[in-house]
Order: sequence, then structure tokens, then C-alpha cells
Amino acid sequence: MSRESAANTEYTSEGKPCQTKRIQARMSDVGGIPVARTLPTKAQRTIGPWCFLDHAGPVTFSADETGMQVGPHPHTCLQTFTWMLAGEVLHRDSLGNRQIIRPSQVNLMTAGHGISHTEESVFSKESGRELHAAQLWIAMPESEQNSAPAFEHYSDLPIMHLGHVALTLLIGEFNGQKAPTRTYLPIVGIDLHFAADDEISVNLEPAFEYGITALVGGFSLTGTTFNQDELAVLATGHDTATISAKKGSRLLLIGGTPLTKPITIWWNYVGYSKEYISQAQQDWHAHHKRFGDVPNSNAARMQGPEVPWR
Ligand code: MN
Repeated sequence: MSRESAANTEYTSEGKPCQTKRIQARMSDVGGIPVARTLPTKAQRTIGPWCFLDHAGPVTFSADETGMQVGPHPHTCLQTFTWMLAGEVLHRDSLGNRQIIRPSQVNLMTAGHGISHTEESVFSKESGRELHAAQLWIAMPESEQNSAPAFEHYSDLPIMHLGHVALTLLIGEFNGQKAPTRTYLPIVGIDLHFAADDEISVNLEPAFEYGITALVGGFSLTGTTFNQDELAVLATGHDTATISAKKGSRLLLIGGTPLTKPITIWWNYVGYSKEYISQAQQDWHAHHKRFGDVPNSNAARMQGPEVPWR
């Protein structure tokens, strides 16, 4: 099911029109894991370079379930950005990296001209049998479509406080702080954790467009209420946002300058032409070295469909 409402005009406290768009998530079940997808949708393809937003879980697996088991699959011209709220996932990639992703850490894989990886749930005494995560993709600029792949794991991110809200800067810059996370285009990503009911004013970059979604709870943006897994979209031109939420709410704020050239997203690829994506899929099927191999993966290699164009 897909439901997207049209833009409705709101007004900021200064009386300026404030274009807030409401995007409803498309809900699906991926191997027993509830997934809410708010990007891309028909009403909103991208927010800055952010081009994919999946909210997975929360789910607690039973003793006979294996949890998330994503076999080797390729990516191009994007960065996969994983942010865990609960549970642990083992990432393995064709560069030979093997990294357990835990809450409060950002896992960033930069595909460039090609990489492949696997993602598997890991159960431990500390993490239990839970999974609760956001996975996003960040489009890379066309000038990077043939660059070398990379992988980084960031466990030390700047944390700021506004009132009763802890803000973890996941990527980009905010209030004079800068995240260590690798970037290619102007971008920001912030986790907001409300320790108590509060209302805060967040500084925005007028050149950026923004999206705000609740992974836990809900929120109110300049007086308009948004439920969990709805995405509030703010067009460029705003310098602040007033956000209020209840104790325990966990919000994700993403933003960036709008892409100047439209991207094509198909299966696990981002590209700037159909030819680039067709070639990527042909190369993946041919086991071309641009995508490498993921050592010791248990799950089956994903094939992907045939490209829908010729
Ligand atoms: Mn992937």
C-alpha cells in the first residue's frame, strides 16, 4: 500500500509560509522483519543526496529464527549508511572488511564503481535477539561513479544537548560541530533522542531541504503532528525548525542541498544513466572483478531482476 498526501501550506512563527509535505511509509515484511520505507516514494524521490530510507523493526526473533540474512549483493554510486537502535548486525564486504554494527555507531560503505556485501543478524548476551535499525543510501555525485570503493565504521560521533534532547551528529555539520563521516555532497544527518517531553528550535541551513521521521514515538513540527514512520519534508529556505516530542521519542533528521542532476535508482544500483546501470547488472551476473567476492558468506548470492529497459 502506498499513500502520499499533497503539500499543505503551514506558517512559521515569523508568519512566513512553510511548505511541509507529509510522506507515508510503504510497509512491507522482509523475511519476518517489518520494514517502513519513506524514500524513495512517488511524492519524494530524494532529500539532498539521501535517496533511500528503510526503517527495519523493532522485532525480537524467536529462538528458531535466524534474523536478518542478506546474501552477497552489489552496489554502485551510493553510500550505504546503517544506524542501529538495537541489536547487532555483521557486515562483510568484498574489500575483506568484517565489522559488527552496534547501536550508537555509523557504518558507512562507499560503493563508487562497485562493491558487494552481506548483512547478517548477530545474537549475543548483551544485544539479545532484537533488530531495530535505519538503513539509508546516499547518492554519490556523477564525478565519483567510477571511483574506488571504501568502508568506514564510526563509533565516536559528536553528541550535543538542546534542552532535554541529545543530538548525535551522524554526518555533516551542525552548530559548529563536524562529524568524521566521509561525505561527497553537502549533507547532514542527526539522531534526536528525547529524554523528557520537550520542544526545541533546531538551526537549519537554508540551502538544504530536510526530512524528519520518528523511529520511536512521534513529533510535532511547527505545530503539525507526525506519527512514527511518517516523513515530514521541508523545502529549502528555512533557517529554523521547531520540533516537539514526548519522552523516549527517537527522531532522525536528514538534509542536504537538492541534487542538481536526477539519479536513476534500480535494484541496488544508483547511476546517472540507464547504460551505467545495465552495465553494472551485466557485470554482476558475469562475476566481474569490480564487485569482488564476499569471503565466507553463508547466504545465497542475490541475482536481481533483469533491467526493465533495453
Ligand atoms: Mn546493501
